[in-house]
Amino acid sequence: MGNKVVERRLEDWWEARQYTPAMLDQARKVLEEIRAGRQVSLALRRHPSPEGGYLAKHVLVAAYREMVGKGVWQPDPQLLARIRMKPVRTLSGVATVTVLTKPYRCPGKCIFCPTDERMPKSYLPDEPGARRGLEHHYDPFAQVGSRLRALQAVGHPTDKIELLILGGTWSAYRRDYQEWFVRRCFEALNEKEAREGLPAPTLAEVQSINENAPHRNVGLVIETRPETIKPRELARLRRLGVTKVQMGAQSLDDRILELNQRGHTVAELHQAVALLRGAGFKIVLHWMPNLLGATPESDRQDFARLWEDICPDEIKIYPTQLLQNAELYEYWQRGEFTPYTTEQLIQLIADVKPTIPRYCRVNRVVRDIPSVNVVEGNRRTSLRQDVLEELKQRGTPCQCIRCREVSGQKVDREGLRLDDLVYPAGGGEEHFLSFVTPSDKLAGFLRLTLPGEKSPPTGLADLQGAAIIREVHIYGQSLEVGKIQPGAAQHAGLGGRLIGEAERLSRERGYQHLAVISAVGTRLYYLKRGFERGELYLVKNLPIRGD
Ligand code: SF4
Repeated sequence: MGNKVVERRLEDWWEARQYTPAMLDQARKVLEEIRAGRQVSLALRRHPSPEGGYLAKHVLVAAYREMVGKGVWQPDPQLLARIRMKPVRTLSGVATVTVLTKPYRCPGKCIFCPTDERMPKSYLPDEPGARRGLEHHYDPFAQVGSRLRALQAVGHPTDKIELLILGGTWSAYRRDYQEWFVRRCFEALNEKEAREGLPAPTLAEVQSINENAPHRNVGLVIETRPETIKPRELARLRRLGVTKVQMGAQSLDDRILELNQRGHTVAELHQAVALLRGAGFKIVLHWMPNLLGATPESDRQDFARLWEDICPDEIKIYPTQLLQNAELYEYWQRGEFTPYTTEQLIQLIADVKPTIPRYCRVNRVVRDIPSVNVVEGNRRTSLRQDVLEELKQRGTPCQCIRCREVSGQKVDREGLRLDDLVYPAGGGEEHFLSFVTPSDKLAGFLRLTLPGEKSPPTGLADLQGAAIIREVHIYGQSLEVGKIQPGAAQHAGLGGRLIGEAERLSRERGYQHLAVISAVGTRLYYLKRGFERGELYLVKNLPIRGD
């Protein structure tokens, strides 16, 4: 059977399993109510998913398409605009493009991790993001190009792109593959491909073109394992243009890590996070409740350990999901593993979420695995809403970044307050500088690392004697560069003010330089603000006042 036929069957299978007739039936009822003038959230609440929780918006879109396709309804762009998820995607100012690397081995042997030969380790072919990789034969150029076209088709600005490279363990791939993969992503962003017969441009060349390209890269994320992070690896990641690293922490208990065959220790995780922090990378950790050997109570204690020194910038809470193609399935069959119920998970996450410090963002509270793959335990992918509902009833709000983002609301510059949240991490001192509205919403923030004597040496020449800006993030509906919209935080000069404050603090604390981990497409922004090109970072000298 040819590849195309296999893929078409796979797609049919995916469509059929993703949207059961009962789900589509329910979605049609929701749509009928919205057409009759009811609020989307209210209609969703009145007709929950047959599997429990709320129906996801993509199910509504599928039901809408079905009705229009059959000619039962006329196309209704206004209805479509209301049920689409599109406003959320670019509210944080940047459009994300996810690309998958080819199927490849992973040095990990984690018992909960699914294996599917068609996919890079840990991904399933019916996960929404992962499916696109398969469709495009894992070709980076094709994946980026198609995603850009799709974003443009629904009216998103695509001038600022965060590239999210997914797939097993990045550092396990061959280095020439890594470089080729990233170069091809940049070529797609640059809308420039070398003509056949001509030599391919180098990575540095395509990066340099991207500084002024139609789609500038404002962030580059890879995912890897803690023990792969060594000083030499930091420099390599920087050369590729990486700004953010996702790692599986999964647990902060060596016993649990060993039981689940994670193949690394908590000490290695500490070391990896400290090295990444010292090199200015943003750090995203995955944490998994309900691993083999854990209980809801041990998970609560485990979660608290995240904030003792590791202090990730972002987390993804991925409750263990029991999948047939993972080794854990055998443990379950022998009665050695029991998945938590949905209610147990809601209670657990509602307990820990309000303890998350204000400098951290919770990106997800459940992995987007279509429920048909889950053998037993929670099947709801809408767990975040359930948890938020529970928190509302308890009166214990979460203060993480995601729960406080201004989300496209108008920002009155005059009313903003500048906060400086200071905390120790990785041997140094972190400053989470943020602009906060009178109602405690977050209009923008900057992460400043002041390395200390106990910070691990990174061996990066640009960072000798330097304080490091790891992130500058300003919220507001993503606008094309150069377009000003009154009240949009992104263009109200907040970034410049935060950088000024970081500079003042660094100078005051005696640092001779201020370095910034700049994505390729934001280099010009910093160059205009007095930073100069170093080897792998942009650096500003901070002469001592009076010199
Ligand atoms: S390291 Fe990640 S991808 Fe590799 S086996 Fe473990 S969970 Fe799966």
